[in-house]
Amino acid sequence: MNHEELVALDHQYAMQTYGRFDVDIDHGKGATLYDLAGKEYIDFSSGIGVNSIGYGNEKWVAAITAQAQKLGHISNLFYSQPYAQLAQTLCRRTGMAAAFFGNSGAEANEGIIKMARKYSFDKYGKGRGTIITLKNSFHGRTITTLTATGQDVFHNYFFPFTDGFRYAQAGSIDAIQEVAGHDVCAVMLELVQGEGGVYPMDPEYVHNLAVLCAERDWLLLVDEVQTGVGRTGTLFAFQQYGIIPDGVSFAKGIAGGLPMGGFLVNERCRNVLGPGTHATTFGGNPICAAAAQVVLDTLDEDALAAVTEKGNYIRTRIAHMGLSSLGESRGLGLMIGVEVKGEESNKVLAARLIQHGLLVLTAGTALRLLPPLTITMAEIDKGLAILEQTLV
Ligand SMILES: *Cc1c(COP(=O)(O)O)cnc(C)c1O
Repeated sequence: MNHEELVALDHQYAMQTYGRFDVDIDHGKGATLYDLAGKEYIDFSSGIGVNSIGYGNEKWVAAITAQAQKLGHISNLFYSQPYAQLAQTLCRRTGMAAAFFGNSGAEANEGIIKMARKYSFDKYGKGRGTIITLKNSFHGRTITTLTATGQDVFHNYFFPFTDGFRYAQAGSIDAIQEVAGHDVCAVMLELVQGEGGVYPMDPEYVHNLAVLCAERDWLLLVDEVQTGVGRTGTLFAFQQYGIIPDGVSFAKGIAGGLPMGGFLVNERCRNVLGPGTHATTFGGNPICAAAAQVVLDTLDEDALAAVTEKGNYIRTRIAHMGLSSLGESRGLGLMIGVEVKGEESNKVLAARLIQHGLLVLTAGTALRLLPPLTITMAEIDKGLAILEQTLV
């Protein structure tokens, strides 16, 4: 099949819910991808932050293959070693108390939202189920996580939306206080807003927010669906903000390309969701869990330190190019936003870079770079060379 045939097939039989770039991807190795015609692409996108250890990692392939031969799925009515061991690895490396596994970021956020409401219900009864989220946030595409998302453009078509969400301007404790009432049970935020345009939160703000949550007995929920699993240079971003959240959701990068999400809870919340209160058929699937174990083993201290260095290197190099179409960059680790200047939008620039062999993303008004965390310096240099040659 060639590119044109594939596009025709997709248009005829696939629901057209995505505005796709006019590029297909067939296979990959490391941080390099190839289309059906064999053209090469350097990947600064990781399938939107998913392919954390690149493509075709041999340990990852071997672990998935071995687990598929042994047991591909078992219901959560039974104990399963990959599930429990993955939970242990995550808890040991974060100081959190327990883990729950699901299948996606939105589902993970649904889980911590349910947990916050139940925590409050158990202690205070009904009427304290409101969750404060931040403006410009992104929390997912289910009805409830769309509601949690603090951007008006997402609050359309699908009425009625879920009750019990209020939005505050990021970075301001006063803004939280203004929307707070006796009905609040939690605050939920991203430590670096991803889809909103790659905006890292100010550490002092996050610290003050954690203090406020503790004073009011609100749960502090951190959406690490994009920032988690090494993306920002620590295993989870909260570890460099010096806070202990009550619930932390993760997904995207956890299993290196297989669908998995979930959340971690601290000691006080470990029993909030007791037997029968929360479940999911595929959650913690043994193949995904085996894949995730390889991802976490690969992202050891050295690999995490390299994430920070590579991120700084990319940002410094781009700044030195002095391109008239790009402005300031921001971010943490290998989660980078580069502001776009001039006539052409970030979408137009991204499409041109992709056509020239560099896969990038957009977010808000910025170009967003999320390379595989294991990308080599040679691949980074190749990608940056494409960027410099393609943009002016
Ligand atoms: C991608 C993302 C989600 C949604 O994850 P899905 O797996 O697409 O459901 C939620 N929160 C954040 C911060 C994300 O980046």
